[in-house]
Order: sequence, then C-alpha cells, then structure tokens
Amino acid sequence: MIKAKPLETYKTQQKEILLNFLKSHKSEHFTIGQICDALKEFNIGNSTIYRLVNSLAEQEKLRCFADGKTHLMNYQYLDVDCQNHLHLKCERCGNVTHLSYEESAAFTDNIYRNHKFDIDIKDTFFYGTCENCADNQ
Ligand SMILES: [Zn+2]
Ligand SMILES: [Zn+2]
Repeated sequence: MIKAKPLETYKTQQKEILLNFLKSHKSEHFTIGQICDALKEFNIGNSTIYRLVNSLAEQEKLRCFADGKTHLMNYQYLDVDCQNHLHLKCERCGNVTHLSYEESAAFTDNIYRNHKFDIDIKDTFFYGTCENCADNQ
C-alpha cells in the first residue's frame, strides 16, 4: 500500500491537470490529439491522456461526440449541473449551448402538460446550427 501511494498521487495529479484544462475551456471541445498538444508541458504520456479521457467520459465527467466533418471524437467538460438543463448542440462545430434551468423547466413542463411526456433532461440535446456556423455559410 505504501509503495503504491506515490503512483496513485501521480495519477491523480495527471487527472487534475487534464480536468483543469478542460474545465477552463468549458465551452470548447477537443480531440485527443489537441488535448495531448495542450498538455505537452506536463509530460503526460499520450496513452495516459487517452486512458484518462476515456475513463472521465465513462464517468460522465466529459461529453464526447464525433465531429460531423472529421469524424474524430471530441471531448468537452461536463458540469454536474448539466444534469439539470437542456442543451443545444451544433451539428457542424459540435459546440454545446447550455440552456438555463428556467428555460429547460419551462420547456419540459410544457411538453408534460400537453403530452404527459416526461423528458429526460440530462440525455436530451437539440441539434441544429449555431450562430457562428450559420454566419460562416
Ligand atoms: Zn449544461
Ligand atoms: Zn457551430
């Protein structure tokens, strides 16, 4: 146990570095390659980053989706309170807009009232085109 501890601490630090990076770029999304580039100075092996990203995605700490154009997987930091609101996702750049709790509740309440359908907020995305991508057309 004593022997294993420094390794665990090291792993935890790597995870923190990765999470902090993604957290400080909440509205952006990255491929594994971009994450590796961004964290170069910390000397974390690419395979370690790959493993950490996958385990964080499994724990639903990250949102992952395939880019519509490149088909590469992209990762984005996912807030805990993202379980409480709806999201708009741009099909072109993958950018995710977080609706407010009030907007989300107003929408789901309305659907429930009219259709007796209880929307699962945390799994619901609205897909479309964001302002930036619409402008670049
Ligand atoms: Zn959110
Ligand atoms: Zn877009």
